[in-house]
Amino acid sequence: MSLYHSTRSRAQACSAKAAIRQGLAPDGGLFVSDALGAEKLDVTGLAEMSYAQIARAVLGLLLPDYTPDEIAACVDEAYSGTFASDEVTPLVALRERGGAGAEDAGSLAGCYVLELFHGPTSAFKDVALQMLPRLMARTSGAGAGAATGSKDVPTERIMIVTATSGDTGKAALAGFADAPGTGITVFYPEGKVSRVQELQMTTQEGSNVSVAAVRGNFDDAQSAVKSIFADRELAERLAAQGIVLSSANSINVGRLVPQVVYYFAAYAQLLRAGAIEAGEAVEFCVPTGNFGDVLAGYYAKLLGLPVARLVVASDKNNVLYDFLTTGVYDRNRPFFTTTSPSMDILISSNLERMLYYLSGGDCELIARLMADLAETGHFEVGPELLGRIREVFACGWADEDQVAEAIADCWRDHGYLIDPHTACGYHVLEELAPAEGAAARVLLSTASPYKFPRAVAEAIGLEVPADDFDCLRTLEEATGTTAPAQLTALETATVRHATTVDIESMGSFVEEACEKL
Ligand SMILES: *Cc1c(COP(=O)(O)O)cnc(C)c1O
Repeated sequence: MSLYHSTRSRAQACSAKAAIRQGLAPDGGLFVSDALGAEKLDVTGLAEMSYAQIARAVLGLLLPDYTPDEIAACVDEAYSGTFASDEVTPLVALRERGGAGAEDAGSLAGCYVLELFHGPTSAFKDVALQMLPRLMARTSGAGAGAATGSKDVPTERIMIVTATSGDTGKAALAGFADAPGTGITVFYPEGKVSRVQELQMTTQEGSNVSVAAVRGNFDDAQSAVKSIFADRELAERLAAQGIVLSSANSINVGRLVPQVVYYFAAYAQLLRAGAIEAGEAVEFCVPTGNFGDVLAGYYAKLLGLPVARLVVASDKNNVLYDFLTTGVYDRNRPFFTTTSPSMDILISSNLERMLYYLSGGDCELIARLMADLAETGHFEVGPELLGRIREVFACGWADEDQVAEAIADCWRDHGYLIDPHTACGYHVLEELAPAEGAAARVLLSTASPYKFPRAVAEAIGLEVPADDFDCLRTLEEATGTTAPAQLTALETATVRHATTVDIESMGSFVEEACEKL
């Protein structure tokens, strides 16, 4: 089933498997399917469905060349025993804290938080990165148009190469560790990630795993990874051993599709809680960087989920806010390092897919806009397209003081701790009046507060110790909450990866890593 093609051209079509194996389309565009939304998912039966059942239904619609058995196996491997909640992504209600009268209740009492951080690395990327390796393992033969070979013994092996500013690397390591037919190499900038984040990566187990610190910053490492992908001689040497390089980047269809599931799962939980009736619309607010998470919400809407509005919440790097307000996307602006590092992004790659769908699939327009972005650093859409975008997406952003204030407000008013990424969304929800016709408001929470204990403890006014693990304990004691066991265990975990490389040596590090496959 050749369903997917590039956002920038319909010249070449491919199956979902081939799209997942390749990641990016050959012309630099993102893979999309024009069949999205042709078939809807019925929401009336949702209340009775488990997360796994919803996942099978959503993935079945979006990845039709996987057999139902393959999808069921992927879902089972990704979500059985890997998340610390039977709901996978549990929904919690924000209540007013005892003592205060209803009048004094926090402005978000009655709203819901969708907790996406109960996976192995305590950030929402686990939902997708636990699934991607399972999907990839079943793509062998899909690359060159050959007949699908045996599912268990891929003829060609894949080496995933990723540069990370912190969260993605660990989530990718946890997903790909010991995954059949694949290996993973992660580079992080030396001295630029938190101690917790560094230990998360350097203690990673798995026979197919390689990790190195890089002497340089994240952008240097990211650029070097791009040139590794573009190195033809390296590609030929690896091809001779039956190895291809690929990325676990959030533009991969295999990362986007699993995220559509939790919008439906949130709706199912609202139905079960009696908060809404089937068919009633829900507003979702999503802390955003690369536009992947919130785009998945738009996919859910196209699949028939009653979505009143999607609120795009940015941090101080508010390039998306400006775009959604004016129609001008301009990356020529200062870059801010904030307490929400995973949202410190100036090029939101997945925006391209949203523009594709809302322009009615206008590949020529998308190709032109993206060429403008590459050449000048900005592009502009006309008032008509902007109007259509704004019917679906609202927006807001939070500066550093507002993030800290939101963490403090949420703790004071609801006795609920949020991390700095989630706090951007909290602030924006506080600011905006509820969407017209929305029966419930849901804030997506993208990381455990314990992943960023320093910023959270400071925001709620605690004395903050110098050591990250002391900081974590201080937060536990002061709030009566418990840190995820996988984070506290890092303090005494064995460090397995202690290599530091220069930028110029990253290519040979990858080549050595491939020898392990
Ligand atoms: C990656 C990440 C985000 C941003 O998600 P996008 O899909 O890039 O919009 C937000 N919060 C956390 C904690 C993340 O790790």
